[in-house]
Amino acid sequence: MKRTRLVLSFPPESVEEPVTYRLITQHDLVVNILRATIDPGKQGRMVVELSGEERDFDSAYNYLEKLGVSIQPLTREIRYLEERCTSCTACLPVCPTAALDVDRDSWQVSYDVEKCVVCLSCVDACPYRAVEVPL
Ligand code: SF4
Ligand code: SF4
Repeated sequence: MKRTRLVLSFPPESVEEPVTYRLITQHDLVVNILRATIDPGKQGRMVVELSGEERDFDSAYNYLEKLGVSIQPLTREIRYLEERCTSCTACLPVCPTAALDVDRDSWQVSYDVEKCVVCLSCVDACPYRAVEVPL
């Protein structure tokens, strides 16, 4: 069983395609959508976690490439600098996956890399530069 996180970028002509449905029903993959956006130019971007057998990935990649979908591994990570974090919670409302979360007893903010989809929203939101994109 293989599991991977990918960024799928859709050209405008493929935005209407029921990609998730087809990945599940025709390619036997388990699809977990971590983030999905469509910009004003109608380009689509989806961050997904896919699980399945190697051969199913091959057929899924063929299907996506025929649609003109760009497939990139989700490799970038953010760096959370605990020593700079004041637990001000300014980043919490912009974090779509609760990768940045606060303990309701201690009011301490923490970061969970497993939940992070690298949307970078917190980088701009943090007034203390406690979140960075590694160069
Ligand atoms: S980049 Fe920041 S805002 Fe986006 S998911 Fe990761 S921790 Fe949350
Ligand atoms: S905005 Fe910055 S300082 Fe405030 S809780 Fe989030 S990471 Fe910590």
